[in-house]
Amino acid sequence: MLDADFFRRWMTAAHTAVDQEADRLTELDSPIGDADHGSNLRRGFAAVTAALEKEAPATPGAVLTLAGRQLISTVGGASGPLYGTLLRRTGKALGDEAEVSEADLARALRTGVEAVATLGGAAPGDKTMLDALVPAADALGESFDAARRAAAEGAEATTPLQARKGRASYLGERSIGHEDPGAASSALLISALARTAG
Ligand code: ADP
Ligand code: MG
Ligand code: MG
Repeated sequence: MLDADFFRRWMTAAHTAVDQEADRLTELDSPIGDADHGSNLRRGFAAVTAALEKEAPATPGAVLTLAGRQLISTVGGASGPLYGTLLRRTGKALGDEAEVSEADLARALRTGVEAVATLGGAAPGDKTMLDALVPAADALGESFDAARRAAAEGAEATTPLQARKGRASYLGERSIGHEDPGAASSALLISALARTAG
């Protein structure tokens, strides 16, 4: 079973990964965006870990909803509300249990991912974070490692796609040939989850 401490460690691992990969995320965001994705998420996850240390929420659901609120209030870019919604809605779907199962998390994550799709109006294939998140949420029913692999493959598979949502879509065909930064950061988030579990 997964308790609040597990979810805190996941968020801390995500913060570390985003810090380490911030330059790469910003580089991915420069040919098809505005070169701020790494700094956006770095600022957001620093606020997440600071808030979690200060408030120490007691349940998995409360950890993720607090994290989501921090991302919404500190990240200016499109990714803030989208990742914030992902974590808040996943947290809400977990309810107020003190411990949740892996299957509970898989179900809740699917709810969170659907909320991201609704908010952003995007679907898999549009070259967004959903190209990593949707396969990851589906594969989480199988195992943490399957989710990690599905997210990484989903992110890589955005390279040949033409962006249909977000800033990159303004480039039309010129968005082809670059990995989507949000899909890359989603792969980091899911990889941090698998590391926390493993
Ligand atoms: P901004 O584009 O405002 O500078 P970021 O650079 O932080 O914000 O985030 C860009 C990422 O957000 C994109 O790479 C993409 O994955 C994701 N994104 C943008 N718009 C959408 C959308 N409508 N639906 C899902 N994801 C989106
Ligand atoms: Mg950007
Ligand atoms: Mg921006």
